Amino acid sequence: MIKKSRVAVVGGSIAGCAAALAAHRGGADEITVYERADGRLAARGVGVAVHGVRYAELAAAGFLDADIPWVGLSHRTWYVRDDSAPSPLGRPLTESQFDFRTYNWGPLWRELRTRVPESVDFRTGSAVKQVQLTSRGVELDGEPYDLAIGADGIRSLVRTAACPGVEPEYAGYLAWRGAYPESELPDAHLWPKDQCAYVVFDGGHIVIYRIPDDTGGHRVNWVFYTVPPPGFTLPAEGGRLLTAELAGRLAEITAHQLPPFFRALIEATPERERFVQPLYDFTAPQYATDRLALVGDAATVARPHTGAGAVKALQDATALQSAFVAAGTGSAALAAYGAERTPVGRTMVDLGRSLGRALVQETPDWGSMSRDDLAAFWRRADGSGAFGGSRLPRD
Ligand SMILES: Cc1cc2nc3c(=O)[nH]c(=O)nc-3n(C[C@H](O)[C@H](O)[C@H](O)COP(=O)(O)OP(=O)(O)OC[C@H]3O[C@@H](n4cnc5c(N)ncnc54)[C@H](O)[C@@H]3O)c2cc1C
Repeated sequence: MIKKSRVAVVGGSIAGCAAALAAHRGGADEITVYERADGRLAARGVGVAVHGVRYAELAAAGFLDADIPWVGLSHRTWYVRDDSAPSPLGRPLTESQFDFRTYNWGPLWRELRTRVPESVDFRTGSAVKQVQLTSRGVELDGEPYDLAIGADGIRSLVRTAACPGVEPEYAGYLAWRGAYPESELPDAHLWPKDQCAYVVFDGGHIVIYRIPDDTGGHRVNWVFYTVPPPGFTLPAEGGRLLTAELAGRLAEITAHQLPPFFRALIEATPERERFVQPLYDFTAPQYATDRLALVGDAATVARPHTGAGAVKALQDATALQSAFVAAGTGSAALAAYGAERTPVGRTMVDLGRSLGRALVQETPDWGSMSRDDLAAFWRRADGSGAFGGSRLPRD
């Protein structure tokens, strides 16, 4: 246990709340969380998927539980538009087992936040500006700590201190995301409740599944991946991404390449419920130094095709907790944590790139694929078998 330690966590989102819990259970005396946002983090209202086996591991480790609202999926069906298909869902290409739980980001974060013990000093509206290593530990804006955990997302300041020069790399395409109330979707009963749909088209695909809403009902969450129009350049940090040009691109593909049911879903989702996310990847060459640890998106961002963004963050916290409990000193704990999680980050980035090539950048002729072709295609794309997150080591 890391008793008599002062630990700082930078960032109070999914990874930050879980890291604070890990430090508390690992024996830290004083824990401070710095979160730049004021008050509650504003949810983007879209979904997070967690593989069933990864859920069981994270529940056993105490980072997820059945009280957090979720929707169960059992199978995945791949659809392609075929105007002669009898169903508005399109022509199903194949179906396979898909054991996932889905969450709405907002309630998931809120539930994790309530599990952070009251003894933790959780400072909202508190942006860290400087991370300084000293002979005795680390200082955040002059305040001394034994260890600092960077849970500060893709543009992490803590990562800059731990691994200078590591920058996210744009993957060359985008995800348009949205969610729409199931109760307002015409013919929702045609689409099985426990199905994850992959609707594929030339140059991309959409992943669609239900998530809980805040009232006991469901929203239909969609993530639409494809390349932007030629000449597109990323706006500067904080710039608006849902431009008329990108909205037009989405509308054109939706009208010409999607089966009617999924077309209706995208077209019904109002603009205020949509956003565009450029895809990046990178992984820190080391998850920890003597005094600094990186968790969640601060450590690694893999493309969302991996279905493992939140899982990865929660697994990082699980590994950190085990390392704190097993080690006698903070530095020894961080060394063990870094050795366990650094290779996982690399695996997830490689998997995201492989799935991105297969599902967006070098798509096959979907319409001609048989069930066996698709099964072989998926085995090749998910070569590492880490889709949904890699397995946590057993104690
Ligand atoms: C408000 C919000 C809504 C999101 N909604 C969704 C969603 O609907 N679906 C989905 O799949 N993913 C969503 N994500 C992303 C998702 O949380 C992450 O990809 C994943 O769960 C890993 O989370 P993370 O905690 O590592 O990083 P993030 O969620 O990016 O959190 C990083 C946190 O660090 C804080 N921070 C950054 N720099 C500083 C600093 N210098 N000082 C103090 N605080 C700092 C940020 O304010 C942020 O809260 C959302 C993220 C945020 C912040």
